[in-house]
Amino acid sequence: MTGRPPVSGATQVVGIIGDPIRHSLSPLLYNAAFDALGLDWVYVVFPVAAGNGAAAVDAFRTLGLSGLNVTMPHKADCAARCDELTPDAAALGAVNTVWTGADGQVRGDSTDGEGFLRSLTAAGIEPGAQRVLLLGAGGAARAIARALGRVGADLTVAARRIDAAEACAAVASGGRAIDTVDVAQLDAVVGVATLVVNATPIGMHGEAQPFSSTALHEGQIVVDTVYHPLETPLLAAARAAGADARPGTGMLLHQAALAFEHFTGQPAPLDAMQRALTRHLTV
Ligand code: NAP
Repeated sequence: MTGRPPVSGATQVVGIIGDPIRHSLSPLLYNAAFDALGLDWVYVVFPVAAGNGAAAVDAFRTLGLSGLNVTMPHKADCAARCDELTPDAAALGAVNTVWTGADGQVRGDSTDGEGFLRSLTAAGIEPGAQRVLLLGAGGAARAIARALGRVGADLTVAARRIDAAEACAAVASGGRAIDTVDVAQLDAVVGVATLVVNATPIGMHGEAQPFSSTALHEGQIVVDTVYHPLETPLLAAARAAGADARPGTGMLLHQAALAFEHFTGQPAPLDAMQRALTRHLTV
């Protein structure tokens, strides 16, 4: 580990806003990256109450922060306050990353979808070649749906509200929607999927997925966006069925790495970030 200089008047400050936010793993990830590269940067948490997202972007400008990550419930409000959005952020109407370009313009990106894709390609999986069942239709699901649609994956979105599933599927051209109420239909779609993705909070507190474990099988890839716990009931069932089970740490790492690149203009030290994450989540 290279180590950073002591915090001084020259230190560049990056942070994350959210509500709640004290539990965030982002300080761990980014400070490990700054340490590894010996950068005089520091990453902190800013608890910002719902409704104050746009004001936080104004404060970002006023305080001259070097970057800002954004999480619930501020993603849409912050997107509306940026000067420029990447195509992903504009399409989703949401940002998780805000920084200032060389021209002084405040830019916003949504790195979740691309981070999800990178987590797969880093594992030797080709996302565009997959037949995907995506569970959930919220912010993470929409980002993943857009990214999978861009690379040409065959996508079905399943959610407990069919209107939300349809809106999410529409983010990807050719995307289809079903509801999770009809378990037999859901089981059939899971059974033929090469990639199953949970983009709901199901599993954070031990809940089982809304389809039969028997629909999972060997040769499938099963990704949970949930990373705490590392082994959700879905991943345990997938592993028991002989599938390739992957926790949400991959997406977490790669969406942060992309944001790091926006902030610093340098490639992220993925190994150092991964080590910090693994150490934290397995102790
Ligand atoms: P969100 O916008 O609130 O969306 C949550 C989605 O899950 C909605 O479609 C919601 O349906 C559905 N849902 C919630 N509880 C459910 C239940 N009991 N049964 C069926 N569906 C349920 O949240 P989000 O930001 O998309 O986050 C979703 C998950 O992704 C969270 O667990 C989060 O930790 C994870 N995530 C991980 C990463 C990563 O880097 N690994 C990044 C972002 C998010 P309704 O609309 O009907 O409530």
